Amino acid sequence: MSAAENSISPSAAAREFLAREHQLLIGGEWVGPAAGGSIEVTDPASEARIATVSLGDATDIDRAVQAARAALRGEWSRLTSYEREALINRLADQLIANLELLTELEVLDNGMPRMAAQYSIAKFGGDFLRYYAGWATKIHGETIPVSPQDSRNGDSLTYTRREPIGVVGAIIPWNAPLVMATLKLAPALAAGCTVVLKPAEQTPLTALLLGELVRKAGFPPGVVNIVPGYGESAGAALAAHPDVDKIAFTGSTEVGRKIINAAAGNLKRVTLELGGKSPMVVFPDADLERVVPGATRGAFFLQGQNCMAGTRLFVHEDVFDRVVEGVAAMAGSFRLGPGLDPQSDLGPLISAEQRERVAGYVAAGREAGAELVCGGEAPSGKGYFFRPTLFARTNMDMKIAREEIFGPVLCAQSFSDSDLQALADEVNSTIYGLSGSVWTRDIAVAHRMAAMIDSGQVSINCHAAVDPAIPFGGNRQSGWGREFGREGLDPYLKTKATTVLF
Ligand code: ADP
Repeated sequence: MSAAENSISPSAAAREFLAREHQLLIGGEWVGPAAGGSIEVTDPASEARIATVSLGDATDIDRAVQAARAALRGEWSRLTSYEREALINRLADQLIANLELLTELEVLDNGMPRMAAQYSIAKFGGDFLRYYAGWATKIHGETIPVSPQDSRNGDSLTYTRREPIGVVGAIIPWNAPLVMATLKLAPALAAGCTVVLKPAEQTPLTALLLGELVRKAGFPPGVVNIVPGYGESAGAALAAHPDVDKIAFTGSTEVGRKIINAAAGNLKRVTLELGGKSPMVVFPDADLERVVPGATRGAFFLQGQNCMAGTRLFVHEDVFDRVVEGVAAMAGSFRLGPGLDPQSDLGPLISAEQRERVAGYVAAGREAGAELVCGGEAPSGKGYFFRPTLFARTNMDMKIAREEIFGPVLCAQSFSDSDLQALADEVNSTIYGLSGSVWTRDIAVAHRMAAMIDSGQVSINCHAAVDPAIPFGGNRQSGWGREFGREGLDPYLKTKATTVLF
């Protein structure tokens, strides 16, 4: 049976939402796009068109930026931090109250399995908002004991204030649409900024429902503006806009470079969360009962369309065959199907184009002489499915081991060296540095290796631990800056030093 044949129908609430006219949220109102464009939204599991959404361009981005600028000077700036906290918490309440509908729309729009959508929206959406709501009341400056000019100590006072950076442009990808939207909105709103959010053109639906929830939560008009549109038009216009103070971007390294260039015009602040090629390093004493499911999920969560995915598996030669067999057995047992079907372990890839890209890498891996252990092909039938794929005997000269595939392809290579530095050099021989994991019972090896991996985050005996309080971001070409946690608030704030002489 083909993957999409046992699809489960959307609920009446989801069908009603899909059938609506979807406009742009600008200045607190749903408005039509200036040029009247629209985009068809496709369910990647069935390839069917499921909704039509208004498409914003540079003119609409400009209107949204003006609305965000006006809101920055309006009622929003006069709210107390307690009131901002309460509003963000109200948005979290709205999100949880609408969890079922958001989950269904995310599944239909992106293709991810229902469990993954529900868990990620509640955990990273809801918890994110609540975590940063709490920070709103804890933002403050310092007093600094200095004696500038001719004043004597005590005759002057210097203090700093932490002010919102201003208008934030948030540009997000399609792989976890609602989570991405909330993790940009939460710190920006806690800091007192206003936002223009541009969701990915492939997955605008949950961002649009989020816009409705922002209105219901009671945010002043213009604090959150949402403009779906293409990257090259709406995204580029937002990145280049002279009245935007900061861009928060998540997406490919290639587009990250374009954002930097576009932002140069007014020297706006930029944070970038980009690609990855994260390692999972397994030592011979590791608990293989944990390694096999942990590494398999680490590689194939969201069909591998996940910047933190563990895509390079380094396994000590003593346990290499056992780990590879275990991962292949688990990956091979995953059921591919529409995300709404509770039987589905993996959904489709986002698009036909993405599936072709993945197939191209698989062909390159075969040509380079990597051993295909499982997967390697798309099942027949509708939907952009691709079987979870494991290559063994790869090495870091191969394209499949070097480049980010953003699909369900895992490369496994063995190591024998007891020289940790040599192993770390091999692990670090990539342009990326986002995540990584170390699997061992030896705490000294675990912490030594974790320190040697050049990435923004390392997990020990699990892969890609995520929590709103854990700083997240990449080294090298995986990005600029950190999101999440206290550090994740800083890019949304600027410091003003004030000195008074008595
Ligand atoms: P992915 O490879 O995950 O699709 P992209 O980096 O292509 O990631 O896209 C991430 C986001 O960046 C999307 O919202 C997309 O529309 C936007 N984008 C793409 N190109 C540009 C660009 N030139 N300028 C600004 N945003 C862009």
